[in-house]
Amino acid sequence: MPRHPLITQSLTTRSRCEIIDLTARVRQIVRDHQVRDGIAVVYVPHTTAGVTINENADPDVKHDMLRKLGELVPLRERYYQHGEGNSDSHVKTAMVGNSATLIIEGGELVLGTWQGIYFCEFDGPRTRQFMVKLIESAE
Ligand code: ZN
Repeated sequence: MPRHPLITQSLTTRSRCEIIDLTARVRQIVRDHQVRDGIAVVYVPHTTAGVTINENADPDVKHDMLRKLGELVPLRERYYQHGEGNSDSHVKTAMVGNSATLIIEGGELVLGTWQGIYFCEFDGPRTRQFMVKLIESAE
C-alpha cells in the first residue's frame, strides 16, 4: 500500500469573492495516484479562503451563496478591529471551513449527483493553493 505525498496545486482567483469548482482537478489527482479505496482530504491553507461541498449543476447556486454570505457578513462593521480591513473574509472562511473529506471507492470520488468541491475565495483576486492528502485503505 503506497504512501502518497502531500499534493499542492495553485489556482488564480479573479474576484474578491468567488467560488471555483475543484471537482475535476481532485478527480484527476485520485486517478493519477491510482487510489482504489480510501479517503481524500482537500485542504485550503489560507485564512481568507476555504473549501466546501455543494451543488455544481446550477451555477446560480454559487451566486446565491456568495450574495447571502455577503449579506450575513458585511465588508464593514463599526466594531471590526482587525487592521487589514478584511474581517469579513476571515469570518466567511470560518463559516465554510478549510477542509473537505471525500470518500474514494472503486477508484473514484464518491459524490452525490449534484455535489461538487468548491474553493471559496473571500479576499481575492490572488494566487491561492489547495492541498490534497490521499490515504488508502488497508487491503
Ligand atoms: Zn486579515
